[in-house]
Amino acid sequence: GGLVLTKHIVSKEMALARLKSDFVSNVSHELRTPLALIRLYAETLELGRVTTQDKKQEYYRIIREESERLSALINNILDFSRIEAGHKEYEFRETDIADLVRNTLDSYRYQIEQQGFAFEESIDSDVPAVRVDREAIALSLVNLVNNALKYSADEKFLGVKLYRANSSVKIEVVDHGIGITRREQSKIFEKFYRTGDPLVHNTKGSGLGLSLVRHITQAHGGEIAVESTTGKGSKFTLSLPLPVKPAQT
Ligand code: ADP
Repeated sequence: GGLVLTKHIVSKEMALARLKSDFVSNVSHELRTPLALIRLYAETLELGRVTTQDKKQEYYRIIREESERLSALINNILDFSRIEAGHKEYEFRETDIADLVRNTLDSYRYQIEQQGFAFEESIDSDVPAVRVDREAIALSLVNLVNNALKYSADEKFLGVKLYRANSSVKIEVVDHGIGITRREQSKIFEKFYRTGDPLVHNTKGSGLGLSLVRHITQAHGGEIAVESTTGKGSKFTLSLPLPVKPAQT
């Protein structure tokens, strides 16, 4: 019995070590691309090779967007390490969640359309206020939206919904992308985990996004759920509990 247990522990340790080394190489890859672009466009500008104002403007935009991508990536990693160390502090404030969702999506609309996605947005403005850490909830939504964009192939559709369901507020992110096998659905929220799909293999990612979403949601007393069919698409539902009203007498 002891031998079986030892073998089990060792193989679990080995799997984790492998995940960690994959993670380091994935993150390095993910950081390298925006850095290389920033350097390339900055050098081109510095050499004075760009003559028209329009082209210059385009290069400035690329440098800014790639810097933002780099910041978001680093924020994910920093938040993750704070959570792992038990140092993550949340700042809960009464929030108009419809506003928060709309504002977060605003910075993505251009990118979503640019990538050829049909974008359906259904935000119920009447949902009651919820106490949340605004940055953390925005980061969760950004991670879910980014995944929907990254893991869609032929049919490019993104749906985002906000509504009230009994005692909770739900944020739904739907895609018609590659989907996730039933077996892997329970694993994708684990840190570093990435599915075996070839598109995932060829797409940059660190496997941190969903584990962050889960940590953040749970810190709010809520939950994150997934429904998915391979080849058809996925639906992620983030639920946040509404404060319980004292019983009326
Ligand atoms: P990353 O995208 O950096 O790999 P995540 O933690 O955000 O990390 O996601 C973990 C894995 O779950 C992804 O690598 C992918 O295999 C799978 N996944 C997440 N979102 C989707 C989605 N919308 N459609 C298909 N697969 C997904």
